[in-house]
Amino acid sequence: MGELSGYRGDALKFLKDAGASIGDVVELRTGWGTVSGTLVPRYLYGDGEHVVLKLKSGYNVGLSLSGVKDARVVSKGEKPSFAPLPPPKSAGGLPKVLILGTGGTIASRVDYRTGAVRPASTAAELHALVPELSGIARVQPEVVFEVFSENMAPAHWAKLARRAARGADEGFDGVVITHGTDTLGYTAAALSFALAGAPIPVILVGSQRSSDRPSSDAPLNLVAAVTVAATAHFSGVYVAMHLNESDDKVAFHRGTRVRKDHTSRRDAFESIGVPLAAVFGRDGLEFVAEGLPPRGGKFRPRPKFDPRVALLKFYPSMPAGAVRGASRLGARALVIEGTGLGHVSKEVAGELGRFVKAGGLAFMASQCIRGRVDLSVYDTGRDLLHAGVVPLGDMLPETALAKAMWVLGTGASGKRAKEMMAADVAGETTARTFPG
Ligand code: ASP
Repeated sequence: MGELSGYRGDALKFLKDAGASIGDVVELRTGWGTVSGTLVPRYLYGDGEHVVLKLKSGYNVGLSLSGVKDARVVSKGEKPSFAPLPPPKSAGGLPKVLILGTGGTIASRVDYRTGAVRPASTAAELHALVPELSGIARVQPEVVFEVFSENMAPAHWAKLARRAARGADEGFDGVVITHGTDTLGYTAAALSFALAGAPIPVILVGSQRSSDRPSSDAPLNLVAAVTVAATAHFSGVYVAMHLNESDDKVAFHRGTRVRKDHTSRRDAFESIGVPLAAVFGRDGLEFVAEGLPPRGGKFRPRPKFDPRVALLKFYPSMPAGAVRGASRLGARALVIEGTGLGHVSKEVAGELGRFVKAGGLAFMASQCIRGRVDLSVYDTGRDLLHAGVVPLGDMLPETALAKAMWVLGTGASGKRAKEMMAADVAGETTARTFPG
């Protein structure tokens, strides 16, 4: 954090002239009296006309410079900092778990003195915040990168997949990946393909509230993720997040069938079209679905992704140019989120036909979320089939995007790529839709 983090324009100049820095107690004289409080950082997109103080009462006030006569630094504050406790020592003989940190809310915390949220804590700090972990496993925390998950790209997935695969070779009993929740479902799907057949569990875990808030879901999610990574009898890629609004159960979702379906609730994630893989409660695993792959076995990771795939959501009045645009940007494959059973307008269907004729691959998923694509019911669907668009059954559109990038990353193209997309690799398509 800079000395005057987030301030710009006139406000920055005003504070510089007054010799003030973040954390100082500052007194502002206005036409209607003086206000004093701790100078708080501004958020990234704040304007250049306001100064924000945290009052003694704990409230933040923003004062427009137009009403401020001058500023005086009453006392210099310490620069906000967070000193994590050294991670607790784990007992020997416990299973070994690799914790890979990637950023996101689970690795963020609020600085209560200034009120700012900072994505600053490392996986090691997180471990220090949840000391119970040391009673569950010998954990080895590592920061792979620090990004909010909206900034994740296939290159990040590849790096994570390589590190997790190496973790299996190094003898870890499980891998836990801390991750922002926004694109957790995409990364889980990507890793499900790159690590298909992995001999150990790989658990992605996020949180909706940062780890130092009383209502945080981070500690329980993390305890559940590490316990399952360390001790579960099954392998594979899963997402661990709160099961419901109470803070006592964590759901494990299959990596290819999970979505973030709520912006803010702690139980924001849902398994779509399949039962949960497992449920963790106060006394450990309370439920484990049948048929999960056992631990062990030979495994060859395939951690390559070709990002030249676009995911297009069809909408009424979508111009055919949207397909041409994606193609001009270099897309080799398109995943279309069609309406209902998998439909698009005549115009877009015609353009998809041309895209396929020119050598592109077009796949159809549904924006309905539940149910499956069926292109044989209506004329529109039949026309799409005729044009070479490949229906993807009940595969989630986000999963289809990650899979198409992975399929092309394996070097497959044409007929082979279509066959790979249609065949089930990691539970991404089911023969029968689970009612729920
Ligand atoms: N935007 C954040 C992210 O996905 C939100 C979160 O971590 O939950 O990284």
